[in-house]
Amino acid sequence: MEIRQLEFLKHLVRFKRHVYLDHNATTNVSSHVRRKMNHVLKSCYGNPSSLYGIARKSAEIMEEARELVADAIHADSHEIYFTGCATESNNAVLKSVSNHFYPQKKKVISTPIEHPSVINTLEFLKTQGIVVEYCPVNRHGRVSLAELEKLIDEDTFLICCVLANSEIGTIQDIPSIMKIANRNDVLVLADCVQAFGKIPVDVHEWGIDYASFSAHKLYGPKGVGALYVKQGSPFAPFIHGGHQEDGMRAGTESLHNIAGFGAACQDVNKLLAHTDRIRGLKRQFTQRLKEVKPDCVINSPEEHCLPNTVNITFPNVNNAGLMAMLDYHGIAVSAGSACSAQEDKPSHILKAIGLSDQATQETLRVSLGCTTSARDIRYTTRVFKNYVEGRTLLVNMITPAQLNEDILFDEQTYILDVRPQLLRKKLKSLPNSHEASFVSIGKYLPQLPKDKHILVVCQGGYLSYVVAYYLRSKGFEHVSNLQAGVVGWKARRSDLYQRYAGRNITVLQPAR
Ligand code: PLP
Repeated sequence: MEIRQLEFLKHLVRFKRHVYLDHNATTNVSSHVRRKMNHVLKSCYGNPSSLYGIARKSAEIMEEARELVADAIHADSHEIYFTGCATESNNAVLKSVSNHFYPQKKKVISTPIEHPSVINTLEFLKTQGIVVEYCPVNRHGRVSLAELEKLIDEDTFLICCVLANSEIGTIQDIPSIMKIANRNDVLVLADCVQAFGKIPVDVHEWGIDYASFSAHKLYGPKGVGALYVKQGSPFAPFIHGGHQEDGMRAGTESLHNIAGFGAACQDVNKLLAHTDRIRGLKRQFTQRLKEVKPDCVINSPEEHCLPNTVNITFPNVNNAGLMAMLDYHGIAVSAGSACSAQEDKPSHILKAIGLSDQATQETLRVSLGCTTSARDIRYTTRVFKNYVEGRTLLVNMITPAQLNEDILFDEQTYILDVRPQLLRKKLKSLPNSHEASFVSIGKYLPQLPKDKHILVVCQGGYLSYVVAYYLRSKGFEHVSNLQAGVVGWKARRSDLYQRYAGRNITVLQPAR
């Protein structure tokens, strides 16, 4: 076979391969769940609150799902409320319980490695008079139990602690936290979202008061969560309206999602049966990475860690570039919360375990799932090795300091701004920018000049990296990414930002 034919075949193989290693972000919907949801969407349209036959069928499906969720976490079905997502479950508990105790008691203790649905709710509650204290964690994200107990005082009514952290995978010692809480007559909310389906969860054995769950983390649908409230723990309606969910959460239920959640819970033991295999693959993966890049640092703990999660720092390798390059090769991983926020903010979780700002920008999270195979791991390490050894097609990087008037006003430079509209309102675009939407970037391709040097720009330098690699894959030869995005450029070249930003902007229209 001729070399050119071989290259073409390799090209085809590369584009066919898809390796999903971001199961902590979300999971695919399993075929069992899909079948159940399809059946409900097709045949069970009755409103569960109505009284006639088809409605009673819907109500029956909902109660079956409630039992399945309860069984999977070892609760009673009357202790389960369906919600729209775990963010809602966390909000409901934190606000409802604060309201119950305030002003007699004011203090909540939490950890600095909670999900934003907890941290941002607590920060809001602070503005309402609630006192929040964060218990320190060690290098591996484990809560210090001694410190936790010291923080509790007469004013404390709630401890809120994530069972397993999404970014580094650390599992907390919830039974010991419960003992401390019981000794001090304090309630406990455990965010079990990441742990559910990956390690056993037993709310009755642990004795926790509240726990939050989300279907889309365990091969169920997006848009449905659950909240466990121990019988007798204080709780009040959090969405007012009809009598649904025992009057706690009004609104006609999303029956197909709830049924899908129930079906996903039916499979929890099957998911747990994958634990050893997944842990083995993770071990192989980290060993191979260490061979390729011996100075990489594993931030996830050896012990007390989710079997599927590994968080790794690669010194001197920018995580945005690495993530974008992996995406180019069909591999999905996460570059942390900075990436999803599209800003250049370091992850609060990585900062809490002591990483420097620089290290947070050199860190990736890889989260395996039930469908991950040894082949996926081999392929990913091979792609990574080629990158580290400089054998991968690269995107040029322009630093904020380098971006001067010569580049900005060069006839050969075509500036492509891919930020969402909302962020463009916060910070003006570079002069001469062409604004396009990141999500439908493919629809702008016919308008982009192949003979010019395309400089892709976003808010913090993450999205633009992905787009830059995408353009390379579509045959654009001269593509650069602005490192640290508009935020970095404004910080570094505020003189140029003040003088030129927002001038001569073209809003591109996507092809229909
Ligand atoms: N809690 C944790 C630990 C999470 O990882 C997530 C989602 O990533 C959530 C809460 C929020 O879940 P949802 O997407 O259902 O709102």
